Amino acid sequence: MKKILIVANWKMHLDTHEASLLLHRLSQRIKVHRDIEVVLAPSVLSLQPLSLEIDRRKFRLSAQDAYFKDEGPYTGEVSFSMLRELVHYCLIGHSGRRVYFGESLEMVRDKVQAAVRNGIVPILCIGETKEERNMGETKQVIHDKLTSALSNLTAEDIQDIVIAYEPIWAISTFEGEVAKPDDMAKAIKYIRYQIKELYGPVAARDVRVLYGGSVDDHDARAYLALDGCDGVLVGAASLNYHQFSAIVDSAYKLLSERTNSKS
Ligand code: PEP
Repeated sequence: MKKILIVANWKMHLDTHEASLLLHRLSQRIKVHRDIEVVLAPSVLSLQPLSLEIDRRKFRLSAQDAYFKDEGPYTGEVSFSMLRELVHYCLIGHSGRRVYFGESLEMVRDKVQAAVRNGIVPILCIGETKEERNMGETKQVIHDKLTSALSNLTAEDIQDIVIAYEPIWAISTFEGEVAKPDDMAKAIKYIRYQIKELYGPVAARDVRVLYGGSVDDHDARAYLALDGCDGVLVGAASLNYHQFSAIVDSAYKLLSERTNSKS
């Protein structure tokens, strides 16, 4: 059985002291569960100190981004090879990178390849803008972002990676437009269909697909329960330890209900 994956993207929030405090509070609340994996993505500055503090039975670390070259004159950048001892995962192609830093399809592709080359599992983020959605281009965007990002990987590489479906129009819109779980289920199904077309049924079955976009403690369960959804990527709500631990609790509850209904 695949583990439920719950990823906290702390974005550009929390200095090292605040990050350490949040980790401490989460550690007090979150229990070890063999079928749930909780991943924390703090700023790059906090990765080193947190890596010394985390209980590895409860948490794994993720970077929020890295550069695709292993070394060179790329002032200000951090490479995947520098992160390989520190993190298990790295977010790649997050809309924050694509929108604010103009990250291209080619750059996302090279980053995915560099992550895999360095033994770091990519959490590839894909999703459409509001305009693309209104124009009925959601599937086309998913197709294009997926095929280009994965184009240098083998079917075996694909089996291990994580894809986060994050419609850009649904990110941090808590009071605004909310993504309907049924629509998200369709998008997730389409992602797996594309993986199957490109890399075969084993890769399509094994690849983990998450939903992300304004997930909080009230709606996490609805997304986690979706067919084919292996977890959630949480931004704003992950900065609040009450809310984030309640999201992890919804995963515990879902799993125990599933186990009880089988017995
Ligand atoms: C994110 O950062 O990937 C995200 C989905 O943010 P939020 O939960 O705030 O929408």
